[in-house]
Amino acid sequence: MVRLAFLFLFSLNSFAYTFTDDFSNGIYWRSFPINTTVYDGNEQNLAQLETLVGEAASQWEGAVGREIWSLNFSGNTSSGNLIRWSNNFAEETGFNPQTTLAVTTRYRVGTFFDRFVIILNGENAALRFNSGNILAQTILHELGHVIGLDHSEYSNAVMFASVQGVDALSFDDVDGANAAIDVNLDRVSTGFVSEIARAEESSAAKAPLACGTISFIDQGGKGGPGPNGGLFSLAIGFIFAFFLRRNRFNIGNNYPS
Ligand SMILES: [Zn+2]
Repeated sequence: MVRLAFLFLFSLNSFAYTFTDDFSNGIYWRSFPINTTVYDGNEQNLAQLETLVGEAASQWEGAVGREIWSLNFSGNTSSGNLIRWSNNFAEETGFNPQTTLAVTTRYRVGTFFDRFVIILNGENAALRFNSGNILAQTILHELGHVIGLDHSEYSNAVMFASVQGVDALSFDDVDGANAAIDVNLDRVSTGFVSEIARAEESSAAKAPLACGTISFIDQGGKGGPGPNGGLFSLAIGFIFAFFLRRNRFNIGNNYPS
């Protein structure tokens, strides 16, 4: 009986992780580690990001025993694979700044991911101040999207769509990351070409094919054509149920006009 219960629980929880649609469709990173710039023009903000991104990357890498990101920190370089704040979050991303903490966008060329950008919602005071470690949790979550993980249905997973105050990767996150990296490396070693890329005429940068689902969000920016007529589309938001509630009381403070 105990064993049955255990198996039942196990079957409920295992494989709760999912891959993003683009990764599922055969898009992958050329190689690891992924050269990544953490950018902020303000020294203090950069120092904070340096600490938190460093810790988050180490946590993923330690869990899978592989180097995934090669991080550099800059006050003036803001191109390539990038992690940065936006003080114009709504305008830049099209997402509702009251319900979205960050957006991860993956761009591709042919069968490869070309680059990624993680944009943190600088209009959100709690995120800015890392209240309740929320910035650390958000960065950890967004980094999972970079390697092809979509939202997990396992509520204790970092990759769960809503914040649960989870600071550490769960077995589900680790299983997912290992699976994603194994698949990626396997594609690299076989020179895999996605059917989607094969069908294309040119190798110009294309929109991310898909992006992960977002609950409780303004759908305005999701999946639709972006500012460049579809070349730019937004990927993943990170939504916090309690945040929604909190913002109802704090809107005035968060958005001084
Ligand atoms: Zn997410």
